[in-house]
This record gives sequence, structure tokens and C-alpha cells, in this order.
Amino acid sequence: MALVNKKETYTMKLQLVSVLALAASAAAFAPQQISRSHATTALSMAAEEKGSKRKAAVKVLGRVAGALGTIAVATAGAPPPAFAAAKKAVKVVETADNTKKMIGIGAGVIAGAAVGIKLAGGGNKQNFLEAEPYWDQSTVPVNVYKNKAPFTGKVVSTKRIVGPKATGETCHIIIDHKGDFPYWEGQSWGVIPPGVREKDGKPHSVRLYSIASSRYGDDMTGNTGSLCVRRATYWCPDLKADDPAKKGICSNFLCDTKPGDDVQMTGPAGKVMLMPEEDPSTDYIMVATGTGIAPYRGFVRRLFTEKTPAGEAYKGQAWLFLGVANSDALLYDDEWQEAKKNYPDNFRLDYALSREQTNTKGGKMYIQDKVEEYADEVFEKLENGAHIYFCGLKGMMPGIQGMLKGVAEKKGLDYDAWLKGLKGKKQWHVEVY
Ligand code: FAD
Repeated sequence: MALVNKKETYTMKLQLVSVLALAASAAAFAPQQISRSHATTALSMAAEEKGSKRKAAVKVLGRVAGALGTIAVATAGAPPPAFAAAKKAVKVVETADNTKKMIGIGAGVIAGAAVGIKLAGGGNKQNFLEAEPYWDQSTVPVNVYKNKAPFTGKVVSTKRIVGPKATGETCHIIIDHKGDFPYWEGQSWGVIPPGVREKDGKPHSVRLYSIASSRYGDDMTGNTGSLCVRRATYWCPDLKADDPAKKGICSNFLCDTKPGDDVQMTGPAGKVMLMPEEDPSTDYIMVATGTGIAPYRGFVRRLFTEKTPAGEAYKGQAWLFLGVANSDALLYDDEWQEAKKNYPDNFRLDYALSREQTNTKGGKMYIQDKVEEYADEVFEKLENGAHIYFCGLKGMMPGIQGMLKGVAEKKGLDYDAWLKGLKGKKQWHVEVY
């Protein structure tokens, strides 16, 4: 059976010792104490001994990896040096993982522990990218990567997610950031499209896109993030056709990407759309038009799909209103149906299909018409502390505001004072573009 050679053992020792030093400095985060000499001895034994001695040594290393996982978990959202320490810990355990091939069967424990770090030693839980406590927003990352030094992400996949009769094309794009670009649900990434502007030869400016996955990404590893992008086209009234010379630069770049393509990214941006998770009985009312659905996909995955501390604690009701033109243009419908099936008391869904449904006055069913159908409930929930979110094209807001004003007046409320009250209590969240 192959053994680790002396040089590799030495390198491993050095790495382990440096991580243990980091672990000691992050002692507050490491409930599981393992002595430095204990671990280094274990590493030598795992490499050099045979049989039961090696097995025992590998077990100790597994415990070290578990402790480092705890540190990694505890430091997510902690100050940058602590975060770097946790990342270094993951790297060392990944190296340990590589020794599996060299050490043999027993080292499978290390590999398991390495995975444990990614999953925070919590089986298949999504709890390794949490603040402490999980609802504490004081460490939300903002603008870590800026225009002058953007992050390079790699496209994992780009898929059209609307049916043939949808108005326009919308794509779901998964981007690999290797865990180096953490974000929270409700934040956006900036994308700098390649090339230069025709008018002045300068690089294209950054465009923002709401992140459509939870912080754990669609694969729940914490290494990816997803975008929901509508391809911007320009309909020329003279040509009576799309004019490709005037199509949107960044959305077309993103919708045309292929797996492995590089994407220059900035951010994460914004704190307006975060969920206030401290009170798990908070109701959320999420109103979207089109790609405005993106942040809510992150919310719903966090609350109902993934095994997050926020999801496990959640006792409120999250109510999603989505407005699109027709049923072919619906976004992520299968995921909403799943959440509804699994959490009928906590997740609620209403669609406004403007070209397929009619409102109570016989006109097209726009998003404000659908919300108005439930105006009494919506107002009552807001009165009781619910948070309301609006995301999508900015053209949605005048209709929404007009509707809410009308309802408020019918109820004898002063609309401006009512709105001021919601804003003052941070219950009103708007991100429109
Ligand atoms: P641009 O190249 O900037 O062009 C803008 C528009 O002008 C296009 O419709 C284009 O067709 C048109 N145009 C171009 N040339 C001409 C011309 N000569 N004459 C007339 N018209 C012309 N978008 C999403 O799809 N998903 C999201 O989740 C999302 N989230 C956002 C979050 C925030 C906070 C913000 C601010 C914006 C968000 N957006 C989102 C919008 C996004 O940032 C871009 O604005 C959008 O993709 C269009 O960018 P573009 O580069 O494709 O178009």
C-alpha cells in the first residue's frame, strides 16, 4: 500500500501546524479542542503506520478537520482575517483529501471530514455560511469587488427558462465563484460586459443583476450563484423587427454565455432587499414583475428548500405575487409549486398573467390588480409587522402605489403617513430598474 513520502508528510505537517495556530487564534470559534502535538503526531502516524494505529490516527485527523469546519462555520461573516483563516483551513483539509490516494483506505475519514467542512459537519445542512447568530446582518459583505479590480467568475450553465410563447427570452445563469465571492439573499452582483463602448472606446459600464440563488448556490456548496436575466432587445418601429445593432450589451452577453466562459463581476451590492430574520414569525409579501423574481428565489430556497437555520426556525408566511405576460413566461414555477406542496401554511403563491387573465374590471390582470384582490389581508399583515418587497421593472411602481393609495383612502387612512410609517419601521423594500 502506498505511503505518503517524507517531503509530502513534512509539507502536510507545516500546513496543519499553521492551521492549528490559526485555530488557536480563533479559539473563541473552536469549541472542539485538539492539541497541536496530538494532531501532528496523528498526521505522521496516518502516513507511516499500518493497520489499527493508522486508523486511529486518521480518526484524530478527522476530528481536526471537524474542528476546522466549526471554525469555518463560525467565521463565515466574521472579519476578513478570520474568514481567510477558515478558508485556509478548508484548503489544508482539501490537501488532506488528496493524501487519501496516498494513505489508503483509512484516509477516507479525512475526505469525509473535508466534505464535512463544506457542509459544516452538519450532514446535508446548509448552515456553513451563516453569521452568528444567523440573523445578525452586521457582517453582510458589500462591494468587496469593485470596478477597478473585479472578480472573475466562470459560467457553469446558461439555460433559457421560459416557454416558446413567452414575451422575450429569460435565462438562468449559474456562475462558479469557488466560494470566494460570498453574498446574502437579496443582494445583487455587478457584471462588466467584455468589450468597449462604440461611442468612446471606453470599457462598458457595470450592470447590476439581483442574485437568484441563496448564499449556498443552486448546488448548495456555497461555491456558485445564479442570475435570472432577460435578454434586452430593441424593437425598431420602422423596420418592424428587432434591430440587432441596438440590443442590450450585458444581458445579451450573459444570455449567450457558455459553460467555462469568464464573467467580470463586482459587488455584492445592496442591503435593501435583505430578509430581517431575527423574528422567525415575520410575514414576507414579495411582489415581482418578470426578472424581479430573482431575489425571492433566494428567499424561498433559504426558507423552504434548504436546511438553513433561518428555514428551520421560520414560522411566518411568505407570500409571493408574480406578474408576467402569460403562463409560458412564468419563472421557476416548479420550485414554487414544490414549496407550496411542502409548506402549505407558510408559503403562498399568486400569479398575475396580464395577457391571460382579466381583473375585476374586465381589463388586463396586472400585478397591482392581483395584490388588490387581497388588499384587506395585505394591509392587515403590514399592520402586524409584515415586510413587503417590490422588485422588477420600475414601471410597476406607479400602478402599485396608485392601488395602495386607493385602498388606504377607502380604509380612511392617510396614505402618505401610512407609507412613512412602513418605511420608518423598515417594512418597505423596493428594488426596481
Ligand atoms: P444596455 O446595453 O444597457 O441597453 C439598455 C436598453 O437600451 C436595452 O433595452 C437596449 O435594447 C436599448 N438600446 C440600446 N441601444 C439603443 C438605441 N440606440 N436606441 C434605443 N434603445 C437602445 N435585469 C435582469 O434581467 N435581471 C435582474 O435580475 C436584474 N436585476 C437588477 C437589479 C438592479 C439593482 C438593477 C439596477 C438592475 C437590474 N437589472 C436586471 C437590469 C440590468 O442591470 C440591465 O439594465 C439590463 O440587463 C439591460 O442591460 P443591457 O446591457 O443588456 O442593455
